[in-house]
Amino acid sequence: MITALAGGVGAARFLTGLIQLVKQEDLTVVVNTGDDVELFGLYVSPDIDIVTYTLAGVVNDVTGWGVKDDTFECLNMLKRFGEVDWFNLGDQDFATSILRTKMLKNGVSLSQISAKVSRDLGLTLKILPMTDDKFATYVQIPEGVIHFEEYLVKRAAQDTLLGVEFVGMDVAKPAVGVVESIMFSDRVIICPSNPVVSIGAILSVSGIRESLRKTRARKVAISPIVDGVPVKGPADKLLRCLGVEVSAFGVAELYADFLDVFVIDSVDVAEKSRIEQLGVKVVVVDTLMKDIQSKVALAKVSLDV
Ligand code: GDP
Repeated sequence: MITALAGGVGAARFLTGLIQLVKQEDLTVVVNTGDDVELFGLYVSPDIDIVTYTLAGVVNDVTGWGVKDDTFECLNMLKRFGEVDWFNLGDQDFATSILRTKMLKNGVSLSQISAKVSRDLGLTLKILPMTDDKFATYVQIPEGVIHFEEYLVKRAAQDTLLGVEFVGMDVAKPAVGVVESIMFSDRVIICPSNPVVSIGAILSVSGIRESLRKTRARKVAISPIVDGVPVKGPADKLLRCLGVEVSAFGVAELYADFLDVFVIDSVDVAEKSRIEQLGVKVVVVDTLMKDIQSKVALAKVSLDV
């Protein structure tokens, strides 16, 4: 049994390699829901959808989110009505969010909905939201506090960041199966994902970090920071605003209390001994996922170490 902790695009790309090597039935992916947001009256779960679409082979490979060859007629009409115009949701993507919203209104949990959607799209692995409770990531910018998706998409991550807030963190419980999966796995893989708003959000849900410390599973993480910068996205700004060094070492510090092995990129070999002083074993390989071969190779490392 393997459990993976995942954000959006970075994680989904890594998991594409992993499912070439392990049986889907043996894999549980615990996904960040801090990016979930209500838009157009619909409940949108960006990371769950990205992971599901990618593993089901229907994702738009160019953007990394949304459905391949989707159209945007619904969104265009909404724009004519003066509705929110900064979040891109294709027509097929709308269908997923409509279904999710309808089922949530009928009292079905986000976990059950995610299970149905992934099953209906042909997947047999388990995709679990980190929590079924309300949880939202907000960031503080000089003008005030805004939802993380507004910062990332509407404002293109351009603002100075002053802080990160996980709203709902105090009461959110892990979704049913999350802690059990971590406890009964042989291996837990922390995907190359944003260490603050994706993995950090998952770790902030009460009981998850503790179960990672307690489990006998081998815990392996892949650094999302290569050569002192994120491969993609605003992880550098988020780390900096928390006072964390923007480096593989900085990320290792955030995971050191539970991590066994940290996979860092060859260009960061100089950081190896510093990270090992945190009590974490370090494996140095090429971590850039350029094509399916490099995704599978990285997944193989995370299984072998
Ligand atoms: P995203 O923002 O939706 O992509 O969500 P994630 O939480 O999954 O985070 C993306 C993180 O993955 C970023 O910090 C990237 O630096 C990292 N990442 C993306 N592609 C790669 C890659 O090919 N190799 C490594 N090592 N990290 C990557």
